[in-house]
Amino acid sequence: MSDTPKSHGRVSISATLQPRDLMTDRPRLKGAWTAKVITLFPQAFPGVLGQSLTGKALEQGLWALETIDLRPFGVGKHKNVDDTPAGGGAGMVLRPDVVDAALKQAAIGTPPSRADWPVIYLSPRGKPFNQAMAQRFSQAHGITLLCGRFEGVDQRVLDHHRIEEVSLGDFVLTGGEIAAQALIDATVRLIPRVLGNQASTEEESFSDFLLEHPQYTRPAVWEGREIPEILLSGHHAKITAWRKAMAERLTKERRPDLWRAYCEAHGRDPEEDQEL
Ligand code: SAH
Repeated sequence: MSDTPKSHGRVSISATLQPRDLMTDRPRLKGAWTAKVITLFPQAFPGVLGQSLTGKALEQGLWALETIDLRPFGVGKHKNVDDTPAGGGAGMVLRPDVVDAALKQAAIGTPPSRADWPVIYLSPRGKPFNQAMAQRFSQAHGITLLCGRFEGVDQRVLDHHRIEEVSLGDFVLTGGEIAAQALIDATVRLIPRVLGNQASTEEESFSDFLLEHPQYTRPAVWEGREIPEILLSGHHAKITAWRKAMAERLTKERRPDLWRAYCEAHGRDPEEDQEL
């Protein structure tokens, strides 16, 4: 598959029954970016990804979603997927042999190179997810996402499969499913044709380290508050300059970390006092 060029034109129907393919009754464009999600809760997908622009693109086969249910890989009569933590302590840990079997299932038909097909464990210990990562993932052929539950996953299976850990932020969720959906959402909207207006991804927050300028729409006056006059002037160059200045001011005020990165990229002094 790694040598298959990404095309967005040919429709094929997937014949795979296992893993559960959320697209079986839908067309799938050959080589469409695919997310394979290993989870104890496959019914949680596509979830919110089935709505709006991502949902429409999923229907059209511009991207594909497969869930791999962890439960059938469980051991014994009760298909146990977890056990108590070695060394004691609260909670349960997902077993390495069970997770390994699911990862092997996910690897069928995917390119071995991690650059072509990243394999990710959603984890609060991971590298914080950001727009640059979403860009990188959108340029791969697809992605495998492992959703943890309970206290997490046995470390050995993460090391064995050279899994990259990605965090949604400095807080603890009950499971990886919401994080997986957030990651997929941010990624698929960067795939050409998923968003109606591709230009909008180039102007929004984090492109070039800046937060986005404030947005306004009708009515012109609401609760006594007016839309900044310049936006109604029809003067495009002035509007662009105003938006840029607002984006810079907001970034400087709210996110000194991004502001420093922006200044560095543009050869500016982060301390310089600008009339913003
Ligand atoms: N004991 C772990 C937390 C486990 S939470 C710890 O203290 O680090 C259960 C599962 O939820 C995790 O395995 C992970 O898959 C998911 N999860 C929790 N918080 C997350 C976050 N901030 N980002 C991504 N996934 C998260």
